[in-house]
Amino acid sequence: MKYDLLIRDGEVTDPGAGLRGPMDVGITGGKIVEVAAGLREEDARRTISAKNRIVTPGLVDVHAHVFVNSSDMGENTDRFCNASGVTTVCDAGSAGSANFAGLRFVVDKAVRTRTRAFVNLSAIGIAGTARSGELAHFPYADPEGCARTIAENRDLAIGVKLRYGPGIVWEYTTEPLKMARQAADMAGVPLMIHITGTPLPLPEILAHMRPGDIITHCFHGQDHGIMGPEKQFLLREVVEAQRLGIVFDCAHGRGGHFNFPLIEKALDQGFLPDTISTDLTFMTATRGPVFDLTTTMSKLMHFGVSIEDVVLRATARPAKIAGLEGTVGTLRPGANADVAILELRDGNFEFRDTDGNTVTGKRRLINQLTVKDGRVLYESATG
Ligand SMILES: [Zn+2]
Repeated sequence: MKYDLLIRDGEVTDPGAGLRGPMDVGITGGKIVEVAAGLREEDARRTISAKNRIVTPGLVDVHAHVFVNSSDMGENTDRFCNASGVTTVCDAGSAGSANFAGLRFVVDKAVRTRTRAFVNLSAIGIAGTARSGELAHFPYADPEGCARTIAENRDLAIGVKLRYGPGIVWEYTTEPLKMARQAADMAGVPLMIHITGTPLPLPEILAHMRPGDIITHCFHGQDHGIMGPEKQFLLREVVEAQRLGIVFDCAHGRGGHFNFPLIEKALDQGFLPDTISTDLTFMTATRGPVFDLTTTMSKLMHFGVSIEDVVLRATARPAKIAGLEGTVGTLRPGANADVAILELRDGNFEFRDTDGNTVTGKRRLINQLTVKDGRVLYESATG
């Protein structure tokens, strides 16, 4: 048998690999071996029909939370990821130098979704139920420990995370930025900065960033975002930073992190996020407004972003940030056989942002089947 698994008759949509059209995907030994029209069913042990469905690489969520507390998915990570076509997830700084071993334990013992992690500049990470943020007590900032943790966990740790905003860093200060920069440089990894309602205007933060670094929650509607104070026009510095290769990630999240009016204006002015992610936690996965990555992708499609543009930003682009370029987030032969079969369903769907705005979408991407490393991990009961 030439293929262990053959996914037939789907509309292959993998803009990162330049693949688009009705094609079949042949899988053997956990790898993609062939993507072409007319692959033969007789050559396969198992065939799955993807007729009238979109076949994409397994989705990559570059900003979510995997560690175990009230703000993370914990042992539910696989359930949420498998059901939504996500085969690779990045934990965005839930743990720091003092508790990264705990995250490592959870990932090793309870999570089969391919996981990478940003290490928080704060030694304690994002302590979900604490009354204040991880840097409210500033001596928790630990650049040396952060860099050392990354060096000791190269197979898991891919970057430094800094959250900058009310309750975390209040003062008008660049000190946390300098320390996060120092940690990232010591470890030789990118820096991800959360920017909702930061004390500093965004251009002052961007001045400390380099190509490959990531601004996350770029569509927040609070102070000091990608637009000026009146929230009408994109800042020149933002357009320039994106042009130079700073990554703008639209992690959905909750509480003012994802604002429909701002998204509409930004898209009108030609600004597309570089990556689409969820900031998913147990709460936002179960009660919304996030639910999952395909829902976040559907919201951007509602505002006019094309299917190719959303798929690229949830596959090849974030895979590169996760250090998995070419092996994940792509259907190219030789890559890990991670595949999502998505339905683009017509109907009336209520989409909510984080600020009380609601729109009715006419189409929604719904995951129907998830394959990771050649194994079917999820199959929708409704087909
Ligand atoms: Zn987050």
